[in-house]
Amino acid sequence: MTKRLYYDRPELLEFDSVVASAGTAEGSRPAVILRETAFYPTSGGQVHDTGWLTLGGHDGDDARLRVTEVADADDGRIVHYLEAPSKLPLAGAAVHGSIDRERRHDHMQQHTGQHVLSAAFIELYQMPTVSFHMGEDYCSIDLATPSVSLEQIAGAEKRANQIVFENRPVRIRYVSRADAERFGLRKLPPAERDELRLVEVADFDVSACGGTHVSSSGQIGSIVLRKSERVRQGTRVEFVCGGRAVRMARRDYSALSEAAALFSSQLWDVPDQIRKNVEESKLVRKQKEDALDQLAELMALDALRDLPVTNGRKIVMRTFSDRDIGFAKLFAQKVTRAGTPAIALVASSVDPPGLVFAQTSSQTSSQNLAQGSGGTPGSMADMGALLKQVLSSVGGRGGGSRDFAQGGVPAGSNINVEQLLQQAAGTIVA
Ligand SMILES: [Zn+2]
Repeated sequence: MTKRLYYDRPELLEFDSVVASAGTAEGSRPAVILRETAFYPTSGGQVHDTGWLTLGGHDGDDARLRVTEVADADDGRIVHYLEAPSKLPLAGAAVHGSIDRERRHDHMQQHTGQHVLSAAFIELYQMPTVSFHMGEDYCSIDLATPSVSLEQIAGAEKRANQIVFENRPVRIRYVSRADAERFGLRKLPPAERDELRLVEVADFDVSACGGTHVSSSGQIGSIVLRKSERVRQGTRVEFVCGGRAVRMARRDYSALSEAAALFSSQLWDVPDQIRKNVEESKLVRKQKEDALDQLAELMALDALRDLPVTNGRKIVMRTFSDRDIGFAKLFAQKVTRAGTPAIALVASSVDPPGLVFAQTSSQTSSQNLAQGSGGTPGSMADMGALLKQVLSSVGGRGGGSRDFAQGGVPAGSNINVEQLLQQAAGTIVA
């Protein structure tokens, strides 16, 4: 088993040791095992350290090995994975270990903050923590509760920061499992070891933990809770401590002040400004829809006005080069609902180009015919079939019913949609 120096000296970031073995692990990853190490392996929610191993008696680049990941092996040894070195050290070689200071310090802040926060949720709301996750940007705990209110989020945050401000000592001690049960632990680990390592935030929390922690609660800096969400095992609460809290606050502030500048408003007025803008754009969208509807109607009436009735219906052909397929569809609907039985063969050449074939519904036109508009119901065509026929010649896709069909031609195919309309009109007239 590797001796874990961080158990008793979590502040130790430089240490000397001896290589126990070196080789490749997990396929081809170069790795080193030391007799003792201060490097923390990923476990208990805390992420591994990174750093350097410097070989004694070597010079130059060969002497420095980059530790990129640290993991627990099943047999109690700690594996240091290395960025591919030119040569692996031999067993018995002396090494000096250096842990990346900022990263470890950040982990200690987050991890200790988690102990305090979990204890605050228990103390105030009897909500036990079932898991802890440390991510790149933020950390989270999962609470065994179906929901956490905004008041509870604010309450736990306030209480946790009180403990931070009181700068209580954080102590480590070892006890037997039997003694631990008498301590009133927040959570007892599964029974695998007889001796337990306890982390105690003075007069506030005691829990069994193998991680690295700061030595007084003030070093956590601050604890800021962020969003909470429902997860399978309860409710997940995101939080950031210390340096991360400052970075997050800086980032939030930058985003918010950029938004405020866009609105020429104060930071706290941004939500109101956004609400106002959303309402305005809804209104503008509605006005635009109404205007397009009226325009399509007028254009349809104009197109129908001087058109002769052939075989009991008018045939309107139109290609739009400046309006999309949505407008083409609207125009076709207006043409077919204007009162005279009509067929609309409409296209838009705006990307993506498309076709709409529509006719006054068979039912409506039969009624009109009965009222003496002329022609016979048989004079109408099947729009779906017609569209398929026209599109199949150019590899387009589309379809629809007897009275309405819509389709598109392959994007960027240079197909002249106007020619397709003429082809369709020719089929109908023939
Ligand atoms: Zn811990």
